[in-house]
Amino acid sequence: MIKWYRRYGRHDLPWRKTSDPWKILLATLMLRKTTARQTEKIYKKFIERYPNPQSVCSESEKKIRSVIRPLGIEHQRARLIKRLASEIVEKFGGNVPADMRKLKLLKGVGEYTASEVLLVAYGEPRPLLDRNMIRVIERVFGIKSKKARPHTDAQLWKFCKSLLPKDPELAKEFNYGVLDFASSICQITPKCERCPLRLICYYFARRKVGA
Ligand code: SF4
Repeated sequence: MIKWYRRYGRHDLPWRKTSDPWKILLATLMLRKTTARQTEKIYKKFIERYPNPQSVCSESEKKIRSVIRPLGIEHQRARLIKRLASEIVEKFGGNVPADMRKLKLLKGVGEYTASEVLLVAYGEPRPLLDRNMIRVIERVFGIKSKKARPHTDAQLWKFCKSLLPKDPELAKEFNYGVLDFASSICQITPKCERCPLRLICYYFARRKVGA
């Protein structure tokens, strides 16, 4: 996956070029229900205008809303960004916490968002288990979460964590690799004929024997 990412990954995405935890947090919020391409332009404009939580606190919600309007669900997003910024300023002195428990105290921050902040900004090898990564993992290893909402499955998180390299940079490349790979090769209808994981993939082996 790391080799694949180095060759084919989306290195140009602006939130992959920063290790600033505030900017990572913003990217995860903006990317919800929106594509990377749609988010890119607004994200760049937003972080230029609001480079830290303090700058959001001193801005009106109405103004924030107008900046992020092209992304959609702007009322909900603007409210969340304002709330998040003021919680970071009030509870953590303006610094995004480097701790899973504290991160999850923030409004709108769940396991995935907290993991991305810890992985990218603070160098902790953690998996970014979203529905795309879940699809790849379940197919390659032939496993199936018993949870109705697999992204809340603690066992699956644990399993994915065990796959990560210990080196934080490599862990980041691995995660980004799986996510990009899921969106370009192991899609809902997978392109197995172009896949470098064919030889180890449970789903592919079963498909070949017609199981
Ligand atoms: S062989 Fe097919 S199902 Fe398996 S990882 Fe590759 S694309 Fe996905």
